[in-house]
Amino acid sequence: MPRPLIATIHLDSMQHNLMRARDCAPHAKVWAVVKANAYGHGLERGMRGFADADGLALIETENAVRLRDLGWTRPILLLEGIFDASDVDLLVRHQLNSTVHTVEQIVILEQATLSGPIDVHLKMNTGMNRLGFRPEAFAAAHARLRAIAQVREITLMTHFANADELEHPRLTVLEQVRRFCLGADGLPGQRSLSNSGGVLHQASLSAELSNDWVRPGIMLYGGTPGGRSAAAFDLHPTMTLASEIIGVQDLVAGDSVGYGSGFQAEWPMTVGMVACGYADGYPRHAPHGTPVLVDGVLTKLVGRVSMDMMAVDLTHVPHAGVGSKVVLWGAGLPIDTVANAAGTIGYELMCALAPRVRVVEGNLDFNG
Ligand SMILES: *Cc1c(COP(=O)(O)O)cnc(C)c1O
Repeated sequence: MPRPLIATIHLDSMQHNLMRARDCAPHAKVWAVVKANAYGHGLERGMRGFADADGLALIETENAVRLRDLGWTRPILLLEGIFDASDVDLLVRHQLNSTVHTVEQIVILEQATLSGPIDVHLKMNTGMNRLGFRPEAFAAAHARLRAIAQVREITLMTHFANADELEHPRLTVLEQVRRFCLGADGLPGQRSLSNSGGVLHQASLSAELSNDWVRPGIMLYGGTPGGRSAAAFDLHPTMTLASEIIGVQDLVAGDSVGYGSGFQAEWPMTVGMVACGYADGYPRHAPHGTPVLVDGVLTKLVGRVSMDMMAVDLTHVPHAGVGSKVVLWGAGLPIDTVANAAGTIGYELMCALAPRVRVVEGNLDFNG
């Protein structure tokens, strides 16, 4: 029998969450973001789970080509654009929509001999200060792109730094929208501003914020950007990481558990060993007390996570033993709950799922 650790990908949940994105932003077309191996779910599964999306967006040029090889015929957006002049050919050959965020990328397009038309996303830096042209430099960049004969559509885009916290004290979403409107004033083209945070808050932002295209990622995978309750937004988990108890130890007061003897029992207790460790993508820094489901009962991580195993408290799960089902995150235990306890975000847990974990597909038996 193979090791019992399995990640089950719920394509039905992916479809459901895509519909939730459409409900939130009913007038926008949707780029389903499938970068980073579809947030750890597998690129090809992302393509099938989001088969109804208007386009797929990602970072890696080779994976954009792979999507074409897999038969995706609708638009593909490269979120960081091209990395050097040798990528230009790919844009035409595979009809990839490229983000343009530097003068260097404009120069490459000006100097290239494009054998056919391309569409681009021109990115404005409205305060994230990661990628893009500042608002006051945006119109000039736009004019240069328009002067290139083979550049067809120019979509105007920006990215929110704090869409999960609308009233962020340093930079609000509305301030970014205001800067975007100033920089894009009078320019033709469709607009694309919102990530998951923007989509989930579309209702409260609708007076100020309109998108022709939205770019949700994490919400499509059943997570929220701020780590708040996905269920409150009616998002379903798309990845359940589950394993089994492979050993049990009965401790007496004073016994310790695991490397560094990081946990010491104050009274007699039972711990179960779960076949899942940091080499599987479970965060090593998850502290004692991080929630774990055993046989459907909420219990907690005990001691340090090791490479292949972790211990859980079975004291209050008396029927549990070798072979009992353990859910690390997913159905019944939101990934954001685990991420919050471990001091990280659901994004990182999904993306870090290790190659050695077996992955299968299966519907989520969603029982509320
Ligand atoms: C990753 C990414 C997104 C999706 O962000 P989420 O927070 O996962 O919704 C959208 N736009 C850009 C430019 C990105 O890089």
